[in-house]
Amino acid sequence: MKTIIEPFRIKMVEPLRLTTREEREAILRAAYFNPFRIPAEAVLIDLLTDSGTAAMSSEQWAGMLRGDESYAGAKSWYRFEAVMKELTGMPHVLPTHQGRASERILFELLGGPGKVVPSNSHFDTTRANIEHSGAEAVDLLCEEGKKPRLRRPFKGNMDVARLEELIQKVGPQRIPVVMMTVTNNTGGGQPVSLENLRAVRQVCDRYGIPLFLDACRFAENAYFIKLREPGQHQRSVRQIVRDMFDLADGATISAKKDGLVNIGGVLLMRDDQLAQRANNLLILTEGFMTYGGLAGRDLEAMAQGFLEVLDEDYLHYRIRSVEYLGEGLLHAGIRIVEPPGGHAVYIDAADFCEHLPPDQFPGQALVCALYRHAGIRSVEIGSVMFGRIDPSTGRMEHPPMQLVRLAVPRRVYTQSHIDYVIEAAAEVYADRYSIRGLRMIEAPPVLRHFTARFEEI
Ligand SMILES: *Cc1c(COP(=O)(O)O)cnc(C)c1O
Repeated sequence: MKTIIEPFRIKMVEPLRLTTREEREAILRAAYFNPFRIPAEAVLIDLLTDSGTAAMSSEQWAGMLRGDESYAGAKSWYRFEAVMKELTGMPHVLPTHQGRASERILFELLGGPGKVVPSNSHFDTTRANIEHSGAEAVDLLCEEGKKPRLRRPFKGNMDVARLEELIQKVGPQRIPVVMMTVTNNTGGGQPVSLENLRAVRQVCDRYGIPLFLDACRFAENAYFIKLREPGQHQRSVRQIVRDMFDLADGATISAKKDGLVNIGGVLLMRDDQLAQRANNLLILTEGFMTYGGLAGRDLEAMAQGFLEVLDEDYLHYRIRSVEYLGEGLLHAGIRIVEPPGGHAVYIDAADFCEHLPPDQFPGQALVCALYRHAGIRSVEIGSVMFGRIDPSTGRMEHPPMQLVRLAVPRRVYTQSHIDYVIEAAAEVYADRYSIRGLRMIEAPPVLRHFTARFEEI
């Protein structure tokens, strides 16, 4: 059979509210053309993020009822700990309320002024936590990863030669840890190969530097390895996942992605002394070691989610449905970052809105056009998110790409929802020269994309 189906059936439904074009026009204006200001109820298909937006399974909901809410040593904690140890082989499992809490603890211990932390690409909260500690965050993405239309299997890989150069330049004693983000969220959800992880590990070993994974999408990454890396096709995703973690000394994980839950995170490590110090910090701000700022029921849902995400029928459907969205857009003539990533498709908004210069925010204008036309919510990753005003000249500096991300929540939408998105995007594309540019009328100094206000030009 060629048809790939959603490998689940629907037991509980959440109605979607259809709005009229006039209503959406009014909502868009009231939201000052910023999707973060649109009430979710007024969104038909929400592709703002894949974080914390997954649908839980009946087994996860059953686990929520079984959740043991004891302060210390809850049954739910032991179940969660056992699952994480079995999957990753890491001896120390620290529960946290989400990924950035794991990062905050790790970099309070390993960061600090004068330190340098390399990665393939740091995610924004990771970078922010490293910089908050006083350390410097450095991205060493491979050259292939920087070419949006180049089709290569592992565009999330690190440039290993540049890692070695960096270590020699600053000295290994200033590099407390090397991070690898799998899949590489900032780089378009592109995977990292086992071969690249091994090469990075070898360099780390040569200089005595620990290697940590930012493993939010570890299962999607492992599935890409199975599909694309020579010699891996016959192996199970579980074995590949174990290989990935075996190469690392620890990991930070947001369970809101491949954990298939709405809230939760984990910090994993091998080193006993580091784990002892991390536990002390955990108790300080997250909670006792056996709940880490979560309810017992959350730990149950996470334990179950981390097992379910390894189901290869699920991963097949997951990776294929994101790819299907990408193919549909390409077929309509729309340029995207290729190949599609594991969790999202990124539209080249500079090409889509070629009549709009970067200082009229073509990505944000496209986000608004998709909402206005079809009630689809997406997010701009371009000059709104990463543009800066140069303090010396007062002029706006633009990032290299103007992208719009369509992130696909896990197990939430069906193929007909995706077909609707493709059709809507194609219609907007056919009438793209009518999309008007935007002017930013108000913005805070940092993380401005969340709250900035715009008007149409
Ligand atoms: C989401 C994410 C994080 C942060 O996790 P939160 O749960 O949102 O705090 C860190 N790294 C990557 C790669 C992510 O995608």
